[in-house]
Amino acid sequence: MLFDGFGRKIDYLRISVTDRCNLSCFYCRKNGIEGFPRNEILTFEEIEFIVDIFKNEFEIKKLRLTGGEPLMRKGIDSLICRLCSKGLSVNLTTNGILLFKFAKFLAEQGIGVNLSLDTLNHNKFKFITGFDFLDYVLDGLEQFLSNGGNLKINTVVLKGVNDDEIFDLIDFAGKKGVEIRFIEFMPFVGKDVWSSYFVSEDEIKSRIERKGNLVFLGNGSSTARVYLFDNRVRIGFISTVTRPFCDSCSRIRITSDGKIVLCMFDDRGYSLKKFLRPEFDGDALRKFIIDIVKKKPRGFVDLKDKMAKFEMIKLGG
Ligand code: SAM
Repeated sequence: MLFDGFGRKIDYLRISVTDRCNLSCFYCRKNGIEGFPRNEILTFEEIEFIVDIFKNEFEIKKLRLTGGEPLMRKGIDSLICRLCSKGLSVNLTTNGILLFKFAKFLAEQGIGVNLSLDTLNHNKFKFITGFDFLDYVLDGLEQFLSNGGNLKINTVVLKGVNDDEIFDLIDFAGKKGVEIRFIEFMPFVGKDVWSSYFVSEDEIKSRIERKGNLVFLGNGSSTARVYLFDNRVRIGFISTVTRPFCDSCSRIRITSDGKIVLCMFDDRGYSLKKFLRPEFDGDALRKFIIDIVKKKPRGFVDLKDKMAKFEMIKLGG
């Protein structure tokens, strides 16, 4: 097992499989930032080698694939099959544009999908993401659900953009029978952008409570607190800014170019490449991970005044 310097057990690995994305959300991607050179991106063999170490040596059981947009990575289905065959719980975070292509496959593999969906309005979708692709997302969602897939909607609430859609989104989730999680906008692309769009959990909750009953159900995961709205829709809140969950953080991240990032708000990444290229060195990698995890910062509570060096698109949300 892996423990950091604060005694927190680390048992959740998030791997970004690409830094490419087919959307350009204004709050996620800074203009003019170059992608990693292709030869820097971890190969599937390298990803598997890392995952094997985490699973076999450190008993990591939960794995999330993210990006960039993970479904854009060529051959992602074969990587998913290989990871699932290891007995890991594999989940995926996606913008859903390509979900229609993988819906049946992902549902059959039992992959839990977190679908990022900030709006149901075509114009707003284009404003947020730069593209008029909402119909692809809705189609993917339908196909995934009709194949029996397990899905949650993740919505970043942005003042003056989609905060008037909170009920439309709750209604939509209710009709589809899925949980919706409202995510507080985190300070990633610049403090000015952040402060003009930020809406707190308390604000979202008080608007919801004006319309109906919110009953606390419990902690859905280490990050989300889940409520039941009007006895019919599960609503989660992920509130990194106003209710940071650093003390129960159990996760570390690996960027698509092979760096361990210990906290989203840390400005350091620790490259694993020297243990992968020119040849795999499992023993040295294992020792490196044990030492590096000890450096995991306490979290947002200590680092919030530093602007994150990594963009979300590179880090994986
Ligand atoms: N492309 C995939 C997707 O859209 O789900 C995975 C990567 S994306 C970076 C993951 C999530 O991070 C998305 O739900 C996105 O809305 C969220 N995100 C990006 N920037 C954010 C920020 N500053 N605060 C909160 N969430 C953010």
